Amino acid sequence: MTRDKSDDQTPWSQSITDVLAWADVSRDEGLSDEEVTRRLEQFGPNELREAEKRHWTAVLADQFKSFIILLLAVAGLAAFVMGDVVEAVAIFAVLAINGAIGFVTEMRAISSIESLQEITEIETRVRRTGAETTIPAGDLVPGDIVILEAGDLVPADLRIIEPSKLQVDESALTGESVPVGKTSDPLEEDVPLAERENMLYKGTYVTRGSVEAVVVSTGPDTELGHISASLREAAEEETPLQEKLDELGQKLVPFLLVVATIVLVSGWLRGQDLFLMVETAIALAIATVPEGLPIVATLVLARGMWRMADRNALVTNLASVETLGSTTVICTDKTGTLTENRMTVAEYELANGTVEVTGTGLETDGTFKQDDQELDEPQDPIVQEALEVGVLCTNASVTEHESEIETSGDPMEVALLIAGIKGGLDRDELLDSMPEAREVSFDPSVKMMATYHELNGAYTVAVKGAPEAVIDSATHVKTDGDTEALTDSDRAEWLEKGDRMAEDGLRVLALARKEVDSTETPPYEDLTLLGLVGFIDPPREEVKPTIQRCQDAGMRVVMVTGDHAGTARNIAHSVGLVDSADVEVIEGRELDDPETLSQAETDRFVNASVFARVNPENKLDLIDLHRTAGSIVAMTGDGVNDAPALKKADIGVAMGQRGTQVAQEAADMILRDDNFGSIYHAVREGRTIFNNIRKFVLYLMSCNLSELLAILIAALLGFPLPLLPLQILFLNVVTDIFPAFALGACEGSRDIMDRPPRDPEEPIMTRTHWGELGVYGLLISASTIGAFVIAGGMYVGGLETREAVTISFLTLAFAQLWHVFNMREITSGILRNEVTENLYVWGALGLSTLILFGAVYLPGISLALRTTPIGLDGWLVVFGMSLLPLGVGQLEREYRRRFETPTLPPILEKLTSSLP
Ligand code: ATP
Repeated sequence: MTRDKSDDQTPWSQSITDVLAWADVSRDEGLSDEEVTRRLEQFGPNELREAEKRHWTAVLADQFKSFIILLLAVAGLAAFVMGDVVEAVAIFAVLAINGAIGFVTEMRAISSIESLQEITEIETRVRRTGAETTIPAGDLVPGDIVILEAGDLVPADLRIIEPSKLQVDESALTGESVPVGKTSDPLEEDVPLAERENMLYKGTYVTRGSVEAVVVSTGPDTELGHISASLREAAEEETPLQEKLDELGQKLVPFLLVVATIVLVSGWLRGQDLFLMVETAIALAIATVPEGLPIVATLVLARGMWRMADRNALVTNLASVETLGSTTVICTDKTGTLTENRMTVAEYELANGTVEVTGTGLETDGTFKQDDQELDEPQDPIVQEALEVGVLCTNASVTEHESEIETSGDPMEVALLIAGIKGGLDRDELLDSMPEAREVSFDPSVKMMATYHELNGAYTVAVKGAPEAVIDSATHVKTDGDTEALTDSDRAEWLEKGDRMAEDGLRVLALARKEVDSTETPPYEDLTLLGLVGFIDPPREEVKPTIQRCQDAGMRVVMVTGDHAGTARNIAHSVGLVDSADVEVIEGRELDDPETLSQAETDRFVNASVFARVNPENKLDLIDLHRTAGSIVAMTGDGVNDAPALKKADIGVAMGQRGTQVAQEAADMILRDDNFGSIYHAVREGRTIFNNIRKFVLYLMSCNLSELLAILIAALLGFPLPLLPLQILFLNVVTDIFPAFALGACEGSRDIMDRPPRDPEEPIMTRTHWGELGVYGLLISASTIGAFVIAGGMYVGGLETREAVTISFLTLAFAQLWHVFNMREITSGILRNEVTENLYVWGALGLSTLILFGAVYLPGISLALRTTPIGLDGWLVVFGMSLLPLGVGQLEREYRRRFETPTLPPILEKLTSSLP
């Protein structure tokens, strides 16, 4: 292929042969691997946003862009100018370590999110080197031969080679929401985009049929690429949680300014060295403003996404990870999510009685029984006709390969084909004598499907669909060897038969046919009803316990199905979704006029657990009702029509195996195994992640507050500094980072799914947490000052000695390390809880302890930090005092657990009530 990106081709005006010649590809062979590599290089990947990845140098530079870091650098320079080289080197070392940690964290978050995006990328079917394979859509190149079917997204701009009953939704490009038909014939050169019937454009999707086409442009060269070039600048959105963390940081700034001023002024008034005091104020600023919180939160969220992916739930955006944790209502479809979607025809209900079919699943040797008598061959003409319609009116296929059965298509249609084989009917043979002339695809709003078959110059129309739809369209019914008019009372009788089958848990379809002269005759008029067919679709085994667990976790599970009310009720009862076998089932049509609903009706719908005969619009209204009632709604879906509901729900859940690409693209979460249980695990993970973020935020903030208070209290008492500026920096940059990261990796506490969902409006730091923050901050700083005073008495020279300051520094450092155990949930045990069982926490404590010993005993570091060895009695003071906050913290947690007060004692509640 010789064209370059600026080539002005109009592939729609050329014949297929010309287009293929121009694209330099053979339709049957596709491109060779070398050619693909070459073209990838020439045209770039098939991606709209030309990898606007942030370069690592930009990420690195970002680490040093903060005002406080700048201040610190100035302080380092000042120290250097004043001749204090050790201090200057130490400050720059701290700056470097701080930058390195921030850089590594951010790069890890970025690469983690990027590789997640790769596994959720849409795939597409292509023909290359003569064979069909599936490749990531991003790897397509011009000239690739692509094969698409209903529900697939169009992955690039394509020229159609061979369409088959193809219809395409182009609303994303043209705004026109009615699907359009397509051809392969060449068109005039100047037809506008919306009328180019032999082209398929990226961003649109196939609603019906299938197509083979050749790629003419990819990525930014596509029409969508031209449009979206202007949108490319759109900033990466922050998740609500990241925003909240940013705000939290902002809120602390005024508080910090006040404290820093007090410290600075009081120190200066007492004649302390001004440079030392300024340096202390800068160190405190670094300590207090939690600039790193949002990025650590990102890392925790990304880690959560990976853990969810391990459990088969692919979450497509970080914000959903958070939302998942507060899900209150799960609206789930039935077929395939609650049931196995492995259907078997169990019985035919015909005018002359019930015919049972034996053999389950894909077994092809079953028998037909009537009144407990085995029928040798279902010779009965009505049975034959019913089987025939089931075999003709289908998109599925069943092939036998050396006694292996291979199937494709809707499992219900497969079941009808298998029933046909049991009765000696083979679809291909049947089609030889009556070839298919037209198909009217299944439409969920009509709930029927029809095919036209040519026979002796006329056409047989085979129809199947929901019983009420088919019975309503039928004017006659097949009885023993005859055709009789269908009266209203007959209709009622047939509907009742269908209801009875559904109440038994069968999925029911009605079968009908008619003879017409032309394929233009509408399909659903004057039908002759043949009978009903009932399918068994067993509930998934694991669903029952999972629904129970969801309910224990305070989430409501609501069944929203397109199926019959009876079937829905039966399955809902058998999977434990409702207690009673005759629970009220709401039919979708009751939701048809959402504006006119009374309050009583609204309440009834919001509290209902089973919805049947629901169409995609009803799903949207149901989401609205629940959301207005304050719920966070997860909704499952798989079809093209479900996409709007998936977008609208707080968490749209698409099925990875059964779902169409359109549904998957609209969804926030894709279940790789189509398993309802994966939603539960994802919610659990979502809750754990939020709690972990809360843990490390509370932990880091209380550590930082303790440093601030220690300095403030000392200043107010007229003491010298119990912590030197470099020591403060050291604590923040080196020691308390590790336990904080480790907290982000805790498993959820045992009872995390025994509690109701979190209110999504609930802030990360509730009033209770602010109260705890104050208490912990005070406890740790008080122990530090206590240790300082004791040390002051121990050494000749008092508080000013290097020993005393070393002791207060170490007391604070270790108190912070032990404090990690105060982060356990109130409901967890003292010894065995999610913090003590987290090996990362122990690793972090080990590492930080080693570093602290190094800070005292390694000459270079102790010189910079102005520490000194303190002897056994010194260490006794350090450990004694540093364990105090842990002891008090644990007592407080135990008190709250015993007396079941999840909040603080009343006096503290009062004190914190003015906080946000
Ligand atoms: P769920 O929403 O739980 O997946 P469903 O598959 O029954 O249930 P829809 O796909 O909306 O929901 O189908 C609605 C009804 O239309 C079905 O209950 C069935 O009666 C009928 N139906 C479904 N698929 C076909 C088909 N391929 N041909 C004819 N009728 C169909």
